[in-house]
Amino acid sequence: MSRVLVIGCGGVAQVAIQKCCQADDVFTELMIASRTKSKCDALAEKLKGKTKTVITTAKVDADNVEELVALINDYKPELVMNIALPYQDLTIMDACLECGVNYMDTANYEPEDIEEPQWKARYEKRCKEKGFSAYFDYSYQWEYKEKFEKAGLVALLGSGFDPGVTQAYCAYAKKHIFDEIDTIDILDCNGGDHGYAFATNFNPEINLREVSAPGSYIENGKWIEIPAMSIKREYDFDQVGMKDMYLLHHEELESLAVNIPEVKRIRFFMTFGQSYLDHMRCLEDVGMLSTTPVMHEGHEIVPIQFLKTLLPDPATLGPRTKGKTNIGCIFTGKKDGKEKTWYIYNVCDHEECYKEVGSQAISYTTGVPAMCGALMLLTGKWNTVGVHTVEEFDPDPYLDALDKYGLPRSINEAPTLVD
Ligand code: NDP
Repeated sequence: MSRVLVIGCGGVAQVAIQKCCQADDVFTELMIASRTKSKCDALAEKLKGKTKTVITTAKVDADNVEELVALINDYKPELVMNIALPYQDLTIMDACLECGVNYMDTANYEPEDIEEPQWKARYEKRCKEKGFSAYFDYSYQWEYKEKFEKAGLVALLGSGFDPGVTQAYCAYAKKHIFDEIDTIDILDCNGGDHGYAFATNFNPEINLREVSAPGSYIENGKWIEIPAMSIKREYDFDQVGMKDMYLLHHEELESLAVNIPEVKRIRFFMTFGQSYLDHMRCLEDVGMLSTTPVMHEGHEIVPIQFLKTLLPDPATLGPRTKGKTNIGCIFTGKKDGKEKTWYIYNVCDHEECYKEVGSQAISYTTGVPAMCGALMLLTGKWNTVGVHTVEEFDPDPYLDALDKYGLPRSINEAPTLVD
């Protein structure tokens, strides 16, 4: 019996909410609150008669702590699920602390405008100290550790697929499979085709900023940064086939390096087709990926936000997308003194997702883990107070829940390794 407030009603949130409604014995009451209330109302209408969960909706500006506090104090949830954008992480965490409510999200914080002096100096210092230049990092949210501990509250960070399930796979490997893990390669393959020349599978602004940034990986405790898309490999993915994949910076590398410090190398690869890369490079070259406002015919516009307006809404890709995703982790290490390799992954079918919840597999593979993370907090299976990423918790009940709610794991005991 739990009351939950979900903030955001985009592609990922819509899947997470529908999944919460499948577990209506736990999620008995749910409020959907977002910037555009009509989206929340439309989803509530779609779910009418299909679930015992009692759904209400509200409008909220999650950049505004006072507004959030008023909403949380009025609704009195046990948990706030932040499925808006990473820009809102800190305001929602502040509101949760003020109201004494547990918090969770699916992506780590990044400042919306890195040029603001408040963020710029800090960002430049971190680039120098840590050696990677992505705009997002965990430091902003890790700074809340003591506050959440003192308040006796849990903040679960990054319970999507990657970050999220990939870290649970790492925790599982550490708990059950290896005595010592030497290397981790996280492989994110989207073999889906939506038929557009160019579209992103989740929020375009977040997606394009991530992909166009320099890549990086961790070797012997140090970050190594490389030009964007400069390390390319081919891999033959189960149920998808041969794909080109590129080494990217990704947020879970940062927390895994802290929480599994013995690992000598951690890398993240994502597959991209040539058309996607050509479009992205061209948009970047003409300045369309910039987050710095420019004047256009007397109006101030942010190029990447204007681009978002032109691109297909990721939430509308569902009916067009065919094919499968395959996301997982390849480990090398030692068990009982012997060298061992092991691969754990999930394969998810875009069309099956659409049949079930009306969305494509990228939203599905993020929304289901968001719901499963919430389930862990609400059922008390994950209850260590403070600010934590997924690998810090027991992976077993989470992976069992993922198996049950639509993202079952597959295992390969003798995988092809990535050179
Ligand atoms: P969308 O852009 O589809 O949805 C974002 C939602 O947040 C929209 O409903 C939007 O409202 C709402 N929102 C934005 N700003 C505010 C605000 N200030 N106040 C209230 N609501 C706001 O994004 P996605 O669903 O694709 O992504 C959601 C999150 O999931 C992102 O943080 C993304 O980084 C993360 N993600 C994580 C992955 C993982 O594996 N861990 C993978 C993919 C995504 P409006 O309708 O008005 O625009």
